Amino acid sequence: MQTAAELKNLLMRIDRKGYPAYKDTKGCYQFSGYQLSIDHVQGDPFAAPSRLSVRVDGRDAGFPADLYRTRCRRIALQDNLTRRFAALTSRASYQAKGSGHSGLISVSRCGQQVLERTACSLDPKTGGLLLRLEIGFPANGRTINARELEKILFELLPRCVQGALFYRNLDPAQLRYAADLAEDQQAIRDTLPRLGLCAFVADGSILPRASGVSDLPMPGAVPFRSPDSLSVTLQLPHRGPVTGMGIPCGVTLIVGGGYHGKSTLLRALELGVYDHIAGDGRELVITDATAVKTRAEDGRSIRRTDISAFINNLPGGRDTAHFSTEDASGSTSQAANVVEAIEAGSHLLLIDEDTSATNFMVRDELMQRVISREMEPITPFIDRVRELYDRFGVSTILVAGSSGAYFHTADRVIQMDHYLPREITALAKREAAAFPLSSSRPAPMSPADFDRRPQPFPAPRPGDRVKMKTMGKDALLLGHETVELRCLEQLVDQEQTAALGCCLHYAQRQLIDGRRSLQQVIDALEQLIAQRGLNALWEGGAPPLALPRRQELFACFDRWRSLRL
Ligand code: ADP
Ligand code: MG
Repeated sequence: MQTAAELKNLLMRIDRKGYPAYKDTKGCYQFSGYQLSIDHVQGDPFAAPSRLSVRVDGRDAGFPADLYRTRCRRIALQDNLTRRFAALTSRASYQAKGSGHSGLISVSRCGQQVLERTACSLDPKTGGLLLRLEIGFPANGRTINARELEKILFELLPRCVQGALFYRNLDPAQLRYAADLAEDQQAIRDTLPRLGLCAFVADGSILPRASGVSDLPMPGAVPFRSPDSLSVTLQLPHRGPVTGMGIPCGVTLIVGGGYHGKSTLLRALELGVYDHIAGDGRELVITDATAVKTRAEDGRSIRRTDISAFINNLPGGRDTAHFSTEDASGSTSQAANVVEAIEAGSHLLLIDEDTSATNFMVRDELMQRVISREMEPITPFIDRVRELYDRFGVSTILVAGSSGAYFHTADRVIQMDHYLPREITALAKREAAAFPLSSSRPAPMSPADFDRRPQPFPAPRPGDRVKMKTMGKDALLLGHETVELRCLEQLVDQEQTAALGCCLHYAQRQLIDGRRSLQQVIDALEQLIAQRGLNALWEGGAPPLALPRRQELFACFDRWRSLRL
């Protein structure tokens, strides 16, 4: 450990030298109240910025143990500190000048969800804090401007650290509120199965967003209000009683006229697998944490997925119990998405007709008369939705505005009417009874075959460095391959995408041996992350990462074209 004064001297010495001289700053320095570590120095002012970390001892940081006594409270606290730090750095960023990224100070940008991230971690044993950030080391052209770096490290950054990482400088009520909220959210999640529910939407929630490009709450929106028949009151540890709509497990239909808020409700349920920050409007919208939005995804690749419950007798006699393709159709892609969600442990499927393949969802009477069951490879979802719940315990919440066919099989029907839900099960069932469907039923489905074993990759050539890059949340570049993730609508942060990339890479090197099944590979990854943290996935300075769910992990492996199963 060196002193801050030594760092200052070093900066004086390298001022106006060529940019590579910055490499000498790598190391750890004692500042007043914290340690600054320069972990990775960028190669030039236009390259990805340098990576640094700030460590504050538990005693100096001073956070009361009550704020991190449980995992969810700790994650809420870390999230809160990251946001606070980000707010301060956004003001300090680019105060120091120069070419390229010179003067940039940045930390993970958190959206509306609260995620476990490597950006900030608090050691529950000591209360010590570690915060990771990036700084663009300043230069003019390729000449070091060390005075500007001095300004960052000795003036701007210390203010951010002081303002965000020391309890005495923060608002205790706000920190407590966030931790209590996290515990209430956890309590709802824990209560759902006991009440036989798969989702809960609190009265007063604000579901719509400000715009198609903003995840902030819509100003002036109609607040959510549960229909009496679905209203439940939960006792939360901090808020006490909270009333809202409880959606029971089983088959639930959301219907209603166009533009009445169906997709908005479903979208809120999709994201209810995550906790949201205070003020988001969806903080008490909580869905079964394993819920998966399934949709059509033309063009995706499929690797030995057993879609025989939905697709059989394809032209050319193709095997649908081990179905593979480089370019799936709407219906085969959605069939694979459903089966793979179940393989990933999902107990709740969320489907919006807006993003579904029609021939996967329904087949009307007239079509069944013209094209008989024997000539049609697809057993539509409507013929399986009941079985999925009754035999396999997988519930479905389905938005269906245009087809009444599901009225017969649904356990309940919710109508969205001017953005407010009404339960119309009795009415829908009455009308359905007067409209009998053909009695021809498909043979019962057998449980899918999940025994897929990833085959080892060719050994890397010595000295090969694998490149990993994310394209926002939409795709992952690993080596020479692009893994398309655009249709994973529950992936909410590009740091989750980066973590998925690290997982693929780690699995490729360490886990995939031709013997472990895909489930076992993913079990091993989850165990590693639980025991050693996300940083264990990548040797030597991972980019900032956020924890993805098991369901997105599966989905990512399932879209990795170079994986042989
Ligand atoms: P649907 O799927 O029924 O056609 P959407 O859910 O797409 O309808 O909603 C239509 C529009 O109404 C969207 O622009 C959405 O933001 C808005 N909206 C949804 N819910 C509300 C609400 N509670 N208050 C105000 N506007 C809403
Ligand atoms: Mg819609």
